[in-house]
Parts: sequence; structure tokens; C-alpha cells
Amino acid sequence: MDSLEPTSTPIHPCVKCGACCATYRVLFDPTETQPDSLNVPKELTEKVAPDSLAILGTNTAKPRCVALSGNIGKSVGCSIYLRRPSCCRDFKPSYEDGIRNPRCDEARRGKGLKPLRPKDYL
Ligand code: SF4
Ligand code: SF4
Repeated sequence: MDSLEPTSTPIHPCVKCGACCATYRVLFDPTETQPDSLNVPKELTEKVAPDSLAILGTNTAKPRCVALSGNIGKSVGCSIYLRRPSCCRDFKPSYEDGIRNPRCDEARRGKGLKPLRPKDYL
């Protein structure tokens, strides 16, 4: 044996989820599309109020962000991950930092997934 390093790292729970991206309206300030800001792709947004943009696909009765790829609850990705809006960056999966996020739990339940527990990060 050459090393005692683990042979694999745990898969982050969000990679197998995506429920919040297909549950909530994703709203943010128009300034976040500016090149000197988060640079959210403007072509993937719609104006919902003078001071508010939504990511396309989320301002509907059955939201699903257009940037979400894959199958919810199995394997998903965000095609604009590095340019995602602040609300996505700020949305924490339950217990990632030791704190429960009821909106994460609610989104998961809505897609038939159990709420996360601390052991899901081991
Ligand atoms: S609902 Fe929670 S676990 Fe699922 S992708 Fe969103 S933050 Fe991650
Ligand atoms: S921008 Fe990315 S993280 Fe935000 S809702 Fe869409 S897929 Fe999810």
C-alpha cells in the first residue's frame, strides 16, 4: 500500500438532487447581469419587476430553471454554475454547514426525496 488517502470522495448531495432549481422562482437584482458583477447570462433571464429579474423557467406555476440539466433526484448540473445568481449561491442545502434549511427540505419533499441529514455528507 502506497498511501492511506481515501480512494474516493463523497458525492455532494446537490449533485443528486436539483429539487430547489425546479421548485422556486429564482429572483435577483438586474445588476447581477453586469460584467463587473456575477455576470448572470442576461439571455437566460426575464424581467418580472422594475428591480427584479427571474431566471427563465422559474417564473411559472411549474418551475424548472432552464440552466438545470439532468434528472432531478438522480444526477443534475447547473450550466451557469460559476455565473449563477446570488440567491442560488446563498441557498444552502440542509446541514451542509450544520444548519437545517427548511426550504431545501420542502423542495426535496416535493420531488419525493427525503430531507438531508448530517450523515449525507459523510
Ligand atoms: S433542494 Fe437542497 S439538496 Fe437539493 S439541490 Fe437544492 S440545496 Fe441541494
Ligand atoms: S441557476 Fe443553476 S443553481 Fe440556480 S436555479 Fe438554475 S440550475 Fe439551479
